[in-house]
Amino acid sequence: MLSVGVNGYGTIGKRVADAVRVQPDMTVRGVAKTSPGHVADHATSIGYPLYAVSEDEIASFEAAGLDVAGTIRELVAKSDVIVDATPGGIGEQNHTLYEQLETPAVFQGAETPAVAETSFNARANYDEARDASYVRVVSCNTTGLSRLLAPLKEAYGIDAVRATLIRRGGDPDQPSRGPINDILPDPVTVPSHHGPDVRTIFPSLSIDTMGVTVPATLMHLHGVNVTLESTPDIEAVRDLLAKEPRIFVVPESARIEGCGALREFARDAGRPRGDIWENCIWDESISVSGSEFYCFQAIHQEADVVPENVDALRAMFNLKDAAESIATTDERLGVSF
Ligand code: NAD
Repeated sequence: MLSVGVNGYGTIGKRVADAVRVQPDMTVRGVAKTSPGHVADHATSIGYPLYAVSEDEIASFEAAGLDVAGTIRELVAKSDVIVDATPGGIGEQNHTLYEQLETPAVFQGAETPAVAETSFNARANYDEARDASYVRVVSCNTTGLSRLLAPLKEAYGIDAVRATLIRRGGDPDQPSRGPINDILPDPVTVPSHHGPDVRTIFPSLSIDTMGVTVPATLMHLHGVNVTLESTPDIEAVRDLLAKEPRIFVVPESARIEGCGALREFARDAGRPRGDIWENCIWDESISVSGSEFYCFQAIHQEADVVPENVDALRAMFNLKDAAESIATTDERLGVSF
């Protein structure tokens, strides 16, 4: 059993811990938090040993009635591997501790690619993380684009990608984020930084992206155009995408008109936290004109990177090959739309 510590038990960290917990070959050694509160209460209620990020904070956890198993240093020393899901830039600072204690680590998308030996997407480059000590799971947007581009590239070849990323302003638990009533070119400079991030997965890909931020917390929405190297049959493209394990082709018959309905669909299906781990591509949006492919896809930013973290752990420790790992993760998590 791979013993996994989670440092940074927030939006991503708590979901990764829950995903690790249900896998047959790994277990949660403990989770580290900076401060007490309902998220820490929840962690202890489901049995995760709770570690404090610094000794100074132990008293505040204890004052809140929470047992503290130790400090982050102890968690790192006891774990086979750490999933670092701290806010962007903190992971890089934590790298020194992981190195000192010779504990491998998985970092998240807001860290610079240089924090790790490789950036990671299970569908696109699983093998590059084999035997690596430090791996970075790319951002929610890059994960969503990589899952779509990998099968298109393999089947048809890709000449160029252009994507507009309509991004949620913040997560539901982030009252300080925005905009409240605006639509922002974000960043206003073109192309945006997202294309270069996708090239950490597909190094030679020609891709230009533009970003927009809107007053929503639900999901991101991508408008994607791919110039393919060949001219595919539209039904073949549909079949190709429908067969992908982490792509949900939203059928017209479901009458799901937008991201709100998608999230309601997930809640009705009993998904934990209403999470959608899959890319959601509207079937009616899949279009082919000559060698041009188009679609709209929705990406649940809080959830899509979660199965990728599990697969990154298996790749680093050579526990399974890519297809086996994806299948195991998805079966245990319940990725089934
Ligand atoms: P978050 O703010 O929800 O959670 C971060 C957690 O880390 C919090 O519990 C916070 O208290 C804790 N923390 C803060 N400083 C710490 C420290 N020094 N040591 C340990 N823990 C500390 O953040 P998040 O949204 O989960 O993002 C974490 C990472 O995941 C970032 O790299 C982010 O870019 C990436 N990510 C986030 C999303 C998303 O939509 N939220 C999607 C994909 C990837």
